[in-house]
Amino acid sequence: MKYSEQIELILNSYYGHSTKDASVKELYNAVSRIVMNEALPKWDATKKSEGKRCGYLSLEFLIGRLVYSNMLNLGILEDMKKTLKSLGRDINEFEEIEDDALGNGGLGRLAACFLDSAATHDIKLDGYGLRYKYGLFKQSFVDGYQHEEADDWQKWGDPFSIRKEEDKVLVHFSDFDVLAIPYDYPVIGYNSNTINTLRLWQAENANDFNFTDFDNMNGKTNAVADYQANEITYVLYPNDNSLEGKYLRLRQEYFMVSASLQDFINKYKKKGLSFNEISNYQIWQLNDTHPTLAIPEFIRLLNNEGLSYNEGLAIARKCFNFTNHTIMGEALEKWPVFMLNELIPDVYNVIQFLQTKIEEELHNPNLFIIHDNVVHMANLAIFVSSHVNGVAKIHTNILKNDTFKMWNEVYPNKILNVTNGITPRRWVALNNPKLAKLISNKIGDEWIKDLSKLEELKPYIDEKFVNDFIKIKNDNKKILSKYIKEHDNVDIDSSFIFDIQIKRLHEYKRQLLNALSILYIYNELKTGNLKDFKPQAFIFGAKSAPGYYIAKAIIKFINEIANLVNNDPQVNNKLKVIFVENYNVSYAERLVCAADISEQISMAGMEASGTGNMKFMANGTPTLGTLDGANVEICDMAGIDNNYIFGLTVDEVNELKKNYDPNWYLDNNLKLKAVVNTLIDGTFNDEKGYLKALYNSLTTGDRKDYYLVFADFDSYINAKLKVNSEFGTKEYYHKCIQNMLNCSKFSSDRSINDYNELIWKL
Ligand SMILES: *Cc1c(COP(=O)(O)O)cnc(C)c1O
Repeated sequence: MKYSEQIELILNSYYGHSTKDASVKELYNAVSRIVMNEALPKWDATKKSEGKRCGYLSLEFLIGRLVYSNMLNLGILEDMKKTLKSLGRDINEFEEIEDDALGNGGLGRLAACFLDSAATHDIKLDGYGLRYKYGLFKQSFVDGYQHEEADDWQKWGDPFSIRKEEDKVLVHFSDFDVLAIPYDYPVIGYNSNTINTLRLWQAENANDFNFTDFDNMNGKTNAVADYQANEITYVLYPNDNSLEGKYLRLRQEYFMVSASLQDFINKYKKKGLSFNEISNYQIWQLNDTHPTLAIPEFIRLLNNEGLSYNEGLAIARKCFNFTNHTIMGEALEKWPVFMLNELIPDVYNVIQFLQTKIEEELHNPNLFIIHDNVVHMANLAIFVSSHVNGVAKIHTNILKNDTFKMWNEVYPNKILNVTNGITPRRWVALNNPKLAKLISNKIGDEWIKDLSKLEELKPYIDEKFVNDFIKIKNDNKKILSKYIKEHDNVDIDSSFIFDIQIKRLHEYKRQLLNALSILYIYNELKTGNLKDFKPQAFIFGAKSAPGYYIAKAIIKFINEIANLVNNDPQVNNKLKVIFVENYNVSYAERLVCAADISEQISMAGMEASGTGNMKFMANGTPTLGTLDGANVEICDMAGIDNNYIFGLTVDEVNELKKNYDPNWYLDNNLKLKAVVNTLIDGTFNDEKGYLKALYNSLTTGDRKDYYLVFADFDSYINAKLKVNSEFGTKEYYHKCIQNMLNCSKFSSDRSINDYNELIWKL
């Protein structure tokens, strides 16, 4: 049956509507159903195919809108576009469908890119995570302050999942048991034969609901249990790069890994093979320490099957690998012994066993799992895993030489690097169709599956190509301006330079440095010191963890700056500041294809890799950044001179930190002092005291200006003004094109291939 007939039929039979009267939600559900039908045969075939698989265990999957990417990957996007048009509808109506944001930021987005790449290249990688009822909160601004609201993503339906009642398992906590029900999502490879599975577990009440008890009001205990069980997958913790040591978070972590491993063992037992052979069939990748309880849980489950802890450990050592994503202390998971012992005593028992093994094998208390009544999850993960990887060269070097130095001495080959990547399907082909077409018109479309093919573009780069590139960028900027007007009600002239910083709000990412530099430019424009400044718009997008006070202060500060600048007729024909609301994957897609400059300005040593930087690069945008994370490798590939690099290096940061006095910079740099003083001199509305607190965090206390904003200020301003003066020139566009041409290393296809060759060997 033709798609048009299928759509009509579904809308008619499920909703009683014709295509013409169907709501967007109904149409979305109808089209999604067709996608699922198309996917089913390959999905079944992949499930039945033999061979070793890897499970990617992650508390977060920041997938983004699936309807377009699924159609693109199945190869039916163009067909469906035409079909909808012929039915009087428009495929762009699905832009209304919101993200299912089951992740915070880079870590969750990476997991989503990896699943896409693995399916595309026929690598048997399945995702395991949680089906949170509420994903990352929705953000709005009220008087410039961040306001959070629950994200009820399921209100659009969840048409790409299938509930697998038959695979449910029971997860045991000391106080109650919880049912884990899996929802399976097809992970459709682009133009491939593989459809892997993302399995998200939902927590439900384990006791059958008893209506008689409920009626007699004896249902109280039952109702309480129901609440506790559901609570486990109620909401995603909104902290990025920091641990919130709550029981509920611990329950989430254990619930996810226990359900995933029980599911595996149940199925493995049916094969009738020896447990010693597990690693020939299944291994697991731990996405940060969050799922590390998988290791003791695995040993515990094997013990239930009659294996000793020692036997279980020997198998576990072949089955687990661990990815570290950060060196920040506040993110390294450490759980108090009493919490583990209280909630999951049998698992804690295995952890104690692992501690005795570590004492036997390694005599260095710094490497102990249990130390001062605290369980160090990273030490547990490193001790048992076959491989531990960092996510960019510079980050892996810091792990080897600093954070995990002692581990590297006892296990010299365990720590290795796999640089992160992004999927070129979502981050070029889908979000920038015009650029994709320009490329495909020259070299065909194989680059979408093999970015190294961009090499073949090199002979085609002439004046015409550059002009086409510029035209596309300008078109994308117009589309973005229009969207910002609709979404955020701010006018930006698309002829302005679009300078974009989008990422989670965190002090180490230094949105504050960007903010201060804008005030500096504002002052220089007002006094007439800055003559040939080209009109420039500074665009921010970021969510702050709701409990992260200083991050929220930075949001307020930037919104106040926007208010000042945008309403000042003396400068607002040269300067605009926009903080877009509710930055998420779909917004990122619109922003990265319309950027003239990519802000990647973390303090050197802090951003493990970054992946936002790669998205911009692939869309032909130069980086204004520090030598941090994958920026270093971006410069290696595209040329340092084709980006705008500034600031202290990791070594210089370490040296300066020995004896850093931010107040010295204020005293010796009056222009810096002037912009910093706006935090306290009444320039801005601060009735709640956020800006004052921000000022204090910079100038007083043990951690004053911990991320060296003042120390990098001058060099940042210079680089920023250089961008402004070069923008629009041949040199500038040369930089854009060189970035795009040389981005192939940052395809997550390459990352996945590295994982497979170095670690998984599937
Ligand atoms: C890519 C992405 C990130 C990660 O951005 P970084 O700049 O690497 O921190 C965060 N959030 C969303 C929505 C993304 O798409």
